[in-house]
Amino acid sequence: MEVESSAFERYRALYDHDARQAPKVSGHLANRVPVHEGSLGLPVLVQFEDRTKRPTITFPPGSHHSFALDQEHGINEARFHTILVATGAIDAPTLVPMAEHVECAEHGRQDVTFACQHLLRSLGTRERVGFFFASSPRGDAWCGACEEVRIREGGDSGDWNDRSEAFAGVKLICGACYDEVRRLHEL
Ligand SMILES: [Zn+2]
Ligand SMILES: [Zn+2]
Repeated sequence: MEVESSAFERYRALYDHDARQAPKVSGHLANRVPVHEGSLGLPVLVQFEDRTKRPTITFPPGSHHSFALDQEHGINEARFHTILVATGAIDAPTLVPMAEHVECAEHGRQDVTFACQHLLRSLGTRERVGFFFASSPRGDAWCGACEEVRIREGGDSGDWNDRSEAFAGVKLICGACYDEVRRLHEL
């Protein structure tokens, strides 16, 4: 976050005081926050606190940016997870679909979908490897070989486990690529 130098001087002057009633100063976000496109330069308000607390940063009333909305309404666990993945704090999960977007070199901005590594490869080879999917329209998809491993490992329930997931090597692919893989297998 950045503020005018006068605002920073004011912060220094008020540092040892209880400044919770002091008027807010305005500033701008100086970071590009991964899950919040266009966050760099967003206007914010800074409320100084007392010396035991760092200033509180909020978005001005009426902000409609996703970052402002998240701050105003809070985030759920799935959203929190998405943020951790986007910031690189944790690895992307396998077989957990998230309603987010991806920039595909071929198709531009698309919904995020997931498919096993073999299906992904079939996009290049045009070889048909079988197509199974968790749900319509674009649930996680896997190939015939993965289906065999899933059933062998998962028994009656057919649940995925570490071994079948490792075999599948699920990759994130763009929704349009997903549709293309599916079409390839529907012939
Ligand atoms: Zn596969
Ligand atoms: Zn694509």
